[in-house]
Amino acid sequence: MNIILFGPPGAGKGTQAKLVCNKFELDHISTGDILRNEISKSSKLGLAAKEIIDSGYLVSDEIIIDIIKIRLSENKKNNTNFLLDGFPRSINQANLLSKIMSELEIDLNAAILIDVEQPVLINRILNRKNTEGRIDDSEEVLASRLKVYYDQTAPLIQFYKDLNLLKWVNGVGEINDINQQINSIMEQL
Ligand code: ADP
Repeated sequence: MNIILFGPPGAGKGTQAKLVCNKFELDHISTGDILRNEISKSSKLGLAAKEIIDSGYLVSDEIIIDIIKIRLSENKKNNTNFLLDGFPRSINQANLLSKIMSELEIDLNAAILIDVEQPVLINRILNRKNTEGRIDDSEEVLASRLKVYYDQTAPLIQFYKDLNLLKWVNGVGEINDINQQINSIMEQL
């Protein structure tokens, strides 16, 4: 099974992605983690992305697409299934993903939306800032990230609905309950 996990910042994608990937043996592809790792190594890519990430905007599709192409080709070669976390984040990225997957002759089985309303997101992220210390979790940057989500990423809901791939999960509640919802979706695919 190859799946996309998406939702607003603070929806709990990272936490849920780890649980699902362990249970179903999927390669966890988190573009946010990949970029943060590049930043910590001060690589060329990391240096190019840092300022954009810290201000809450999206890095260029070119950078992201290269990362995804390499990783999906490896998975194809090794016959490994994957979960995409943080990608695609716009209709353009979703179209690019479809193109890459059809070139590699691999299928997408579902796009799972973890849905959480805005006031809850804001509380969660401001709390996370104290524990994880991400610059982009500050109150000012959060406003940009939410705007980017609603303007650019939320249209993916209709996009994947039209393809009959959308699955909806209520992201408010206990981590375990949310995980159960995702597991039962996975088991029905
Ligand atoms: P969040 O917790 O907001 O879901 P992520 O950890 O997924 O954040 O990503 C952090 C930042 O990395 C984003 O705000 C963005 O700047 C950059 N980023 C991650 N994935 C992408 C992508 N697919 N396209 C463009 N930028 C991305």
